[in-house]
Parts: sequence; structure tokens; C-alpha cells
Amino acid sequence: MFSKIVIANRGEIALRILRACRELGIKTVAVHSDVDRDLKHVHFTDESVCIGPAASADSYLNIPAIISAAEVTDAEAIHPGYGFLSENADFSEKVQQSGFTFIGPNPDTIRLMGDKISAKKAMQAAGIPCVPGNGEPLTDNDQKNLSLAKEIGYPIIIKAAGGGGGRGMRTVHTDATLLNAISLTKAEAGTAFNNDTVYMEKFLENPRHIEFQILADSHGNAIHLGERDCSMQRRHQKVVEEAPAPGITEEQRQTMGQRCVKACLDIGYLGAGTFEFLYENGEFFFIEMNTRVQVEHPVTEMITNFDIVKEQFRIAAGEPLSVTQDQIRFTGHAVECRLNAEDPVTFMPCPGTIKQVHIPGGPGIRCETHIYNGYTVPPYYDSMIGKLIAHGDTRDSAIARMNTALSEIVIDGIKTNIPLQQNIINDTAFAAGGQNIHYLEKKLGL
Ligand code: ADP
Repeated sequence: MFSKIVIANRGEIALRILRACRELGIKTVAVHSDVDRDLKHVHFTDESVCIGPAASADSYLNIPAIISAAEVTDAEAIHPGYGFLSENADFSEKVQQSGFTFIGPNPDTIRLMGDKISAKKAMQAAGIPCVPGNGEPLTDNDQKNLSLAKEIGYPIIIKAAGGGGGRGMRTVHTDATLLNAISLTKAEAGTAFNNDTVYMEKFLENPRHIEFQILADSHGNAIHLGERDCSMQRRHQKVVEEAPAPGITEEQRQTMGQRCVKACLDIGYLGAGTFEFLYENGEFFFIEMNTRVQVEHPVTEMITNFDIVKEQFRIAAGEPLSVTQDQIRFTGHAVECRLNAEDPVTFMPCPGTIKQVHIPGGPGIRCETHIYNGYTVPPYYDSMIGKLIAHGDTRDSAIARMNTALSEIVIDGIKTNIPLQQNIINDTAFAAGGQNIHYLEKKLGL
């Protein structure tokens, strides 16, 4: 096992990684921007290095600064968390070339999966069901594009090959708007992702978002930890997640889980990863693979009683998976509410100083957060300030526990989305389970 690693992230996930390291006896180096000296994990870490000013481009995305921090502290590996450089193939390559271990898959795998077109091709070849559409880059041949849309059948969606974070997508319902939509998405993708390649696929009108968690080691073993339902979304961003997905049978879970495992072995995957699917009329359609730990990994940890982050370290250190598929048991149900520093009605970010925090407790409650009394949420980063997770024997009991926890939690001094989360958790259609990805926006009249 490593003796010292760098945590190349901030906020709740940096703290989560630090806790896993402490359990494994690994020393940590926190790298942070100059406005992030007061992050909780920076107080707890063995060593810390300031890697630059507030702007992410100059700090959390500053590859040379992060690698130098690993060099000066004599660390052996770098955990990228999620977001920032976690899915940047050049970063993982430079980490390796500098003699460190990247806690994640190889650069080639990140590159393959980071491009939605090559990912879709690899998954089709591995027998994973994909959204209808040939998955070829669109050319400027208007006639060809019009006939491709006809072949797929409207509505279709134009997607950026290099897109992420719910951006770089446009839905088209008729021939009349197709060509304009293609050029707009291409222009946006070029600016936002530095890659103007776009492709076309069927727009599924009422799908759910269901994803499978997998883990693969360097000894040819891979397992799945079942699925999560992340259909409660706003602007293609997840708001509430749960595991297992309501209504998915054990047979579907094992069939799809095994297909994902096989795909991992086919592409030589290493580490933790997630296969994201849209699920409609009983069928799964692959949309993308995330090659990192996800925000919503705790719901899977709660129902499997398995620590995904600790396993990432074991895999990166060359150890075989610590469990086999038949040792994975699914127990009860877990729900996660993302806590954001934002106005619950307008969704405008609300950075500022937190006067008072009360973290709820009780059976089955887990709160992953870095905030504390007097902590100032800076305006420079994502507005997520934590996650509240509730586990129960049944979905109803998990929801009841979440409801109690949401009524107890206190975050004073800034606006948060807690009222929005209470609204969702008390919603009768949410309680019934299995709503599609448009449900939340419709409910909120967006
Ligand atoms: P990103 O990498 O930006 O997260 P994804 O490909 O994972 O993009 O898609 C994000 C979300 O966009 C999905 O959860 C879904 O809500 C919507 N979406 C993507 N592709 C389709 C599609 N073919 N049909 C309908 N909705 C889609």
C-alpha cells in the first residue's frame, strides 16, 4: 500500500479521500488554492501545499503545480476525486510519466471513454446496448445529416463528443431546425470543450437515468455493485440519487451488471467506474462511462456496506479486488440529497459565511460535508457543500429517515437548497418511485 498520497481536489470529496487514507494508514498531502486554506481536510491532513490562486485554472487544474507538490512532499500517488482533473487523460499521463501512480484508469482508457463517440463504439463492440444512432461524427453534408435524422426518427439529440456536465446537447424535433441546431451545438462545443465534434442519436422522451457501479483490478477481476437511479435532475444535473433503482429486478441487475463487468474486462478497465444508461420501456441504453469516483457513490456504499474509495487505493496499489461478486450483498435502500449553497427557488449560487451548522444524526444517517461554523463558502467553485445520505431497510424507511434528517439539519448564514430537497422528499410521485428525468423540472414548472 502507498505510504503517502496527494489529494488533488477540494471540499467534501477531499475529506472523504482523506478519511479513507487514514483508515488505510496512508499519509496525505492536501493541495489547495490560496482561498482554500481553511478547508476542513487542509486542517486534518499531514501536509499541505498551496498550488495557486483561487481560479481553478491556476490551481486545481494546474497540472505542473500538482505534480510539483507530489515531488516536494515525496508522495507516491495522486487521487483526483471527481470533477477538476479526474477525467483528464493528459493529467493521468503526466502523473505516470513523472513516476507517480494515478488513482484511476490508464490514460488510454480515460481518452477512449472521454470521447462519447469512441466510448459508444467500444461499448457497442462489447455488447452493451446503446442509444439508437450510428455514433459517427456529423459532417457538413446537410443532405446526409437530414437523412440520418430521418433514419433515426425524430426527436433526435445532437451531442458534443467531448461534452460533460450536462452541457453541449440540443434536442431537435423537425427537419426545419436540424441544420441550425447542428451548427449551434458545434460552435458551442468548440468553445466549451475545445472539440467541435458532434454526433446524433435518438432522443429518448421519457427515460430514467440508471447507472451501474463497477470496480476492476489489475489481475483480470471485475465486479459490479449494482445500480443507482439518478433521474431527479435539473438541467441534466443530478439532485437526488438512490440505490437500488425502484422496480429493477434482481435478474435485470445481474444481467446488466454482468454486461458492464464484461465490457470492463474487454477494454482493460482499471479502478472504479460507472456505466450510465437511459432506461425506457424496460430497456437500457448506454450514454457514457465515468472513469472516476462519483458524487453519488455513498448510496451504493450504504446498500453494499463496501468502501469504494478504499478499494480505489487497493486497486491502484496493485492489490487484487478484496471481494468477489458473490460476496456482494445488497441490503435495504439508500437515498442521497445533494446540498448546494444556492437559492432554493432561483438556483443562483449563494456563497458566504456559514454562521451555524448542525449536522443531523440517528440510525442510517450519513452526512458528507466539509462545512463548519464560521466556514466561508468561496464563490469560485461548484456550489455543492455536502451530501446527506439516508439508509433504511426499505425505500420508505430511507425516505422517512431522510425527511427527519432534513428537518434537523441547520445551515445558517447562507441560502441552501434544503427547502427544495424537502419538497422532493415529501413529493408523492417521488415516494411512488421510478419517475423519469423530466419529472423534477416539470414539478418545479421549469
Ligand atoms: P454529460 O456528460 O454532460 O453528463 P450525458 O451523456 O451523461 O452528458 O447526458 C446527461 C443527461 O442528458 C442524461 O442524464 C439525460 O438527462 C440527457 N440525455 C443525454 N442523452 C440523451 C438522449 N439520447 N435522450 C434523452 N436524454 C438524453
